[in-house]
Amino acid sequence: MTKTYIGIDIGGTNIKVGLFDSPISLLSKASVPTQADMGPAVVVERIANAAMDLLTQAKLGTEQIEAIGIGTPGPADYPNGVLFRLANMPKFENTPLRDMISAKLGNRPAVLENDANVACWGEFAMGAGKEIEDMVFFTLGTGIGGGIVSRGELITGADYNAAELGHVILYPDGRLCGCGQKGCVEAYASANSTAARANEALQNGEKSSLYQPFTKNGEVTSKEVFDHAANGDAVAIDIVEGTAKALATLCVNMLHTTEPARIVFSGGMIAAGDALLSRIKRYFNEYVWTIKSETIEICFATLGEDTGIIGAASLAKHMLSENH
Ligand SMILES: [Zn+2]
Repeated sequence: MTKTYIGIDIGGTNIKVGLFDSPISLLSKASVPTQADMGPAVVVERIANAAMDLLTQAKLGTEQIEAIGIGTPGPADYPNGVLFRLANMPKFENTPLRDMISAKLGNRPAVLENDANVACWGEFAMGAGKEIEDMVFFTLGTGIGGGIVSRGELITGADYNAAELGHVILYPDGRLCGCGQKGCVEAYASANSTAARANEALQNGEKSSLYQPFTKNGEVTSKEVFDHAANGDAVAIDIVEGTAKALATLCVNMLHTTEPARIVFSGGMIAAGDALLSRIKRYFNEYVWTIKSETIEICFATLGEDTGIIGAASLAKHMLSENH
């Protein structure tokens, strides 16, 4: 009998659903609007309908589902598959999302996990982490998410919120982070913080080619900062260097924490390409200790936009495998 896996990636705007075969190759996928304000029952119905459509098109039924993986924003009670308070989804407080989805899909076994951990697992199992056992993963977007794989398993922590790597403190008297701490790496090196540091420099009257988009739009984006740095603007270069220094420091700290073989960066900001990666590597080599030579690789993620559904399906397969 054909074994299939369902991967579900719940985002603030859209929910992606993927149907996978047993080696976790994508067979088909769909995307539905989240519309979280409609409440859990409606959203779960929409997810289940999307999954059923994919199965029907493949001439399969729920009995062919081996496992269902679900990635959601945190925090949550992951072992029990219950959401807490999500900033953008207030109606989902205390929702037993995992069991609600499972009930609509033939009561097949399901796993619910933090979206950054799901993406981390996807890259580890199917992307940039292939053939290694120890990996650290970062997403560079509006914030910074993280995941850690050690000896082939995700590190989840005592209360299942480990690897919140964006909130590693670099400077205890530094910039205020949205989490309430000061000096988190997220307060310097996320796409939002990179843009915010540039906007502050421009408000302080520093001379820069960024002044043109700044006066036109009232602010600049992290993409504009990288673009103007590539064109040689000194202020933009300084901001980009600050982002790279913060990320390189984090990489050194992670090296000394779990000793990954690879550190993988993903998320919207990796569109900056080698302008970002080469700087992180340069500062990493400058900052790292000298008492031992390191072979750690720092690289970009490879899975792209389907990371969430690939990771969810792959993690469900792993967690529900007989020898786990
Ligand atoms: Zn923080």
